[in-house]
Amino acid sequence: MRMILVGPPGAGKGTQAARLIDTYRIPHISSGDMLRAAVKDGTALGIEADKFMKAGKLVPDEVVIGMILERVAKPDCAAGFMLDGFPRTAPQAEALDQAMRAAKVELDAVVLIEVPDALLEERAVGRRSDPQTGAIYHLKYNPPPPDIAGRLVHRKDDTIDAVTMRVQKYHSETAPIIPFYLGKGILRRVDGVGDPDVITRRITAALNG
Ligand code: AMP
Repeated sequence: MRMILVGPPGAGKGTQAARLIDTYRIPHISSGDMLRAAVKDGTALGIEADKFMKAGKLVPDEVVIGMILERVAKPDCAAGFMLDGFPRTAPQAEALDQAMRAAKVELDAVVLIEVPDALLEERAVGRRSDPQTGAIYHLKYNPPPPDIAGRLVHRKDDTIDAVTMRVQKYHSETAPIIPFYLGKGILRRVDGVGDPDVITRRITAALNG
């Protein structure tokens, strides 16, 4: 299974990806996680990316495309992969398409998780992640166990200002790639409002349907 998860910031892509890879047994490739790891490690790529990420802007295509194409060419992706957060622009979608044609493989599905803008800010601002396990919580909707509350991390770009910018970038840069996948007949739209378990079932049903 070669699939992509698309959706606005706070749609639940990371939460759903973590659940779906158990079912499909494919690597979860999150461009955001890879960029955050590069920032933490202080690599040249990380230093370049950090200034864009903090402001909620997109990291330049040439940086992200190289990073992701290198990753999907690794042997563990030979039988499939789940891309989370990539592609996010038309040039990224084109670069992926070209690389897949060169490798003579095809995308099976693009899952679009739809959440109204009005819910995104609260979802992101309340989001916390566990650096030890990667688990994602929400202070109100999915509260973490009290014993780990002290070690949870609040992303630098989960502030109101950065989220507003990220939602704006989603509409101007990412939403325009959706018709490309619709045209290929592989777009699956899923309602991303509700209990995470219910949404996982919706995605699985959309993929099997
Ligand atoms: P995410 O974890 O997917 O919300 O990504 C966090 C931030 O990383 C985004 O707001 C961007 O600054 C950057 N980023 C992640 N994926 C991409 C991408 N495909 N293209 C450009 N920037 C990205």
